[in-house]
Amino acid sequence: MLIGIDLGTTNSLVACFRNGRAEIIPNRLGEHLTPSVVSIDSEGTVYVGRSAKERAIIHPMESAAVFKRGMGTDREYVLGERHLRAEELSSLILRSLKEDAEHYLGETVTEAIISVPAYFNDHQRKATVRAGEMAGLNVSRIINEPTAAAIAHGITEKQDACYLVFDLGGGTFDVSVLELYDSIMEVHAIAGDNFIGGEDFTELLYRLFLKHTGVDPNSLDLQMEAELRRTAESCKCAFSHNEEIFMCCSINGQLHGMRLTLEEYERACEPLLERLRRPLERSLKDARVTLEEIDRIVPVGGATRLPVVQRFLAKLFKRMPEPGLDPDEAVAIGAALQCGLKSRDKELREVVLTDVCPFTLGTEIVMDNGYFEESGHYLPIIERNTIIPVSRTETVYTAHDDQTRVNVRILQGESRMAQNNVLLGELSVPVPPGPKGRESLDITYTYDVNALLEVDVLVRSTGFRRKLLIRSSRSPLSQEEAEERMKLLQYLKLNPRDEEPNRLLLLRGERLYEEAMSETRAWLDHAITEFEQVLKKKDRLQIQRAREKLKDILDEIEYGSN
Ligand code: ADP
Ligand code: MG
Repeated sequence: MLIGIDLGTTNSLVACFRNGRAEIIPNRLGEHLTPSVVSIDSEGTVYVGRSAKERAIIHPMESAAVFKRGMGTDREYVLGERHLRAEELSSLILRSLKEDAEHYLGETVTEAIISVPAYFNDHQRKATVRAGEMAGLNVSRIINEPTAAAIAHGITEKQDACYLVFDLGGGTFDVSVLELYDSIMEVHAIAGDNFIGGEDFTELLYRLFLKHTGVDPNSLDLQMEAELRRTAESCKCAFSHNEEIFMCCSINGQLHGMRLTLEEYERACEPLLERLRRPLERSLKDARVTLEEIDRIVPVGGATRLPVVQRFLAKLFKRMPEPGLDPDEAVAIGAALQCGLKSRDKELREVVLTDVCPFTLGTEIVMDNGYFEESGHYLPIIERNTIIPVSRTETVYTAHDDQTRVNVRILQGESRMAQNNVLLGELSVPVPPGPKGRESLDITYTYDVNALLEVDVLVRSTGFRRKLLIRSSRSPLSQEEAEERMKLLQYLKLNPRDEEPNRLLLLRGERLYEEAMSETRAWLDHAITEFEQVLKKKDRLQIQRAREKLKDILDEIEYGSN
C-alpha cells in the first residue's frame, strides 16, 4: 500500500487513497495532526507527536521540534546524550506515521509519497527521501506542498483554473501560483518568507499580555514563560470561535488577566499582515497574473484559521477564500490523491505535474559599463520560477588582456552581487591569450526535472568544451558512518502505540505537578499514583475509567472547573 505524507514543520499527517477517495489516517491517539516533535528518554524510548510535545515541556534537553528547518544540513540536535540530524528526527516521525497507517489499514506499508515545500532545494529533498528510507519507506515521489494542496482542491473540477495557494504554517509562509489546464498542473511561481508564521501571531498576543498586565518579562523563569506562551497559543486559537478572549495566567502567585477583542487584536496584527503582502505580490508578478485572474484561493496551514488572516485574504481578493477542505489537511489529501494517480486509479482524471526552479541560477562576471569595471557582479542565466526542464545559454567575454584561463563560478541566489549568492561549483577552461573581450564563451545551464543542474562551457574560438554535473547530494557521511547511524536509529524504539493515551496523560500530569504548588501538588500526586496503580493491573475497562477520571482532574487543574 502506498501512503501520502505531509511532513510539516509543526504538524505532520498521513493519508491514503482507498475506495475511490482520499482519506486522512488517524494517529495512535485518534487524531489527524501529529505534532512534529520528538523526545527520547534515557532508556532510548522515543516519543513522537503530542506525548513528545508534552514531554518537551519538562524535558526540553531530551526533545526536539522545528527540525524541518535543518533538513539537508549537517546540524545536529542534541537529545540527552544522543546527537541526531534533522533527517533522522524526521525518520522517527515517519516511522510513527507508518505504524499508524499499518494499524489503520491492516497491512504493511512500504512505499510513500512525501510532500516538501516548493522552495526546498536538492539537499533538502534528498534528505527527505533518506528520512523515508530510514523509516523503512521507499519514497516513490516527492511532491511540492502547494501542488498537493491545489490538486486536493482541483482534481474533481472539470474546468481549468488558476490557483493561488496561500500556506501559512507554524513558522513559514509560502505562496504559489499554479494553473491547471489540459490536465496539466503547472507551478507558475513560488514565493515566501521563512520567518513568519502562526507562531508570530502567538508571540504578539504574548507581548500584548505582558504590556497590558505590566508583568516584567525578566521576572519570568523559563518554565513560566513557556506556560504563558502556551496560554497565548490557545487564546489565539479561541479567536476562531469568539469575538473576544480573556487571557489569564497566574504569575509568581498573582493572577493576571487581559480581555481582548478580535478587532483590537486585528489592529495589533497589522505589521504582521503587512509582511504577508510582499511574497503575495512577488508571486503574482513572477507568474504574470493579476489578482483578478486568480480563480481560486486555496488557504493552507493551521494559521489560516485565524479570522484575522481570513479577513486579510477576503479584503485583498474581494471575496472569501475557498471553503470546503480543511486547511490543515489539504496537503496530505493532495499527497494521497497523488498516490491514487500513481496507481492509476480510474476514479481520478490524469493530471501531469510540472515544476519550476525555485532559485535563480547564474554566474559571476565583471561589469563594464564603458566608464569603469567592477568585478563580482551576478549574471542570472536561469531566472527563478522558470519551468523545468530548461536549458539556457549566456555568452561572456574575457575580462583582462592576455588572460589564459576563464574561471566560471556557478551560483544560486537572487543577489546582485555574486558573493551573496550560494556557490554550487566552479569550472575552469583555457582560452588563447589576447586583448580583453576578444574571446567569448557560451555558458549553458540545463536544469532537469529531478532538479539536477548541468553546466556546459564552450570556448567559441577553439571549440574547447567542459561539462560539469552539479549533484548537490553532498552526503557528508561516509558509507560506514551512515551504517553506524542507521544501527543507532534501529536501536531506538517507539513508545508502544497502545500505551500512548496513558503515557500522554501521565506526562501531562507530571508537567502540571511541576507547575503547581502545595495543595494542588498533593492532589495531583495522589491522582497520578492511583492511576499508575490501576495501570499495573492491566484491566482494560478499569484503566479506561481511571484514565477518564485523571483526565477530568487534570482538566480542572489546567483550565479551571468551568
Ligand atoms: P506546518 O505546516 O508548519 O506544520 P501547520 O499548518 O500545522 O504548520 O500550522 C500550525 C500553526 O497553525 C500554529 O502556529 C498554530 O498555532 C496555528 N493554528 C492552528 N489552529 C489554529 C486556529 N484555530 N487559529 C489560529 N491559529 C491556528
Ligand atoms: Mg504545512
